[in-house]
Amino acid sequence: MNKKTVADIDFKGKRVIMRVDFNVPLKNGVIQDDVRMRAALPTINYILNQKPKYLVLMSHLGDPKKDTQKAKEKAEKDGKPFDEAKFIEGKHKMKPVVEHLSQLLGKPVKLAPAAIGVETKAMVDGLKDGEILMLENTRFHKEETSKVEADRERMAKELASYGDVFVNDAFGTAHRAHASTETIAHYLPAVAGFLMEKELAYLGKAVENPAKPFVAIIGGAKISGKIDVIQNLMGKVDALLIGGGMMFTFYKAQGMEIGKSLLEQDKVDLAKKILDEAKAKNVKLLLPIDCVISDKFDNAAATKTVNINAIPSDWMGMDIGPETIKLFVNEILKAKTVVWNGPMGVFEMSNFAKGTTAVAQALADATKKGATTIVGGGDSASAIAQAGLDKAVSHVSTGGGASLEFLEGKTLPGVAALNDK
Ligand code: AMP
Repeated sequence: MNKKTVADIDFKGKRVIMRVDFNVPLKNGVIQDDVRMRAALPTINYILNQKPKYLVLMSHLGDPKKDTQKAKEKAEKDGKPFDEAKFIEGKHKMKPVVEHLSQLLGKPVKLAPAAIGVETKAMVDGLKDGEILMLENTRFHKEETSKVEADRERMAKELASYGDVFVNDAFGTAHRAHASTETIAHYLPAVAGFLMEKELAYLGKAVENPAKPFVAIIGGAKISGKIDVIQNLMGKVDALLIGGGMMFTFYKAQGMEIGKSLLEQDKVDLAKKILDEAKAKNVKLLLPIDCVISDKFDNAAATKTVNINAIPSDWMGMDIGPETIKLFVNEILKAKTVVWNGPMGVFEMSNFAKGTTAVAQALADATKKGATTIVGGGDSASAIAQAGLDKAVSHVSTGGGASLEFLEGKTLPGVAALNDK
């Protein structure tokens, strides 16, 4: 990586402001999964061990405006009362995050009333040597995500005034040019944390200089969300395995009956183009050969396993079938580098999780054989954790959207803004 990291900075006596991605799932104020918090601990502890003047941490926590709107609409539809303040308290306020961080660090962590403003500034100025302060959810301020640069600059300057140096360890938000991720980096010496460095090292090596054979497995609901990844990886991989709901648009593109399976009608031509491109470039693009179908989108639905060209018109494909699992596992076990993004089926329903679990297991087995195996964040990260195999692969990314954009070959603005080595 050509960016400076915390290893390039002497933190002794410095006022440090650090962006983390503590955007953890919260249910009524209870943290459901703290992987992202734990992932930032090495950087936090490294800085604290160097005796900085103080450490200010900031993160977003959900999207208060969008989430509240959605929850309100749902409550209205269900005819239920909606308590907005209570909803925000339980889903977007940092208090439970701060309490949990304090436990993880074994040290007190203070909480500021907001990310910016006079009260927060006074609290920052009053910090004693070595103290840790977490700012309130950065997305409570519209400037954080504003499309207007001057808005973001106003907030970023205020945040920058809290520190002598900016550390960005929020890989999961690195694909967003927000005030606390990108803009602030223009006002202070700005370096990457260890998590950011690790994420970029794994993903960067896979994309730029992978040990071969390099196999990518792409799944998930829609082609539209993964098209750029498929196209970017096509020129780099030895084999591209495609599963999940998107496979049916590829089959439709070949004129096959897909029944009531997920279809993106407006992407059929694109699917055809990708198939032609793979052929022209001699890329080994493997589509499933059989699938598990059901008569309803329901875990309790009747199921059958059929050849891919035998889907009845009123059934739908929910998972890859056993022959496809064999085919995919065989490819994965031959690989020296594996990147996986997107489930092979509707893995949230136990009857349609077999394909996804088998891919997770194959990654674990390939790792044992010496391959570097990388799981993109989001659903694939949940799936590998659900299978209990998250420790059995080389790297599970903490950023779904960010890892996807990186695999698309895009520059992540949060990384680009950091100081070059
Ligand atoms: P994505 O966000 O595009 O990665 O898609 C993830 C979602 O794809 C998961 O919620 C899966 O349930 C869904 N999915 C995977 N396979 C299928 C399928 N055959 N039919 C419908 N949805 C699917």
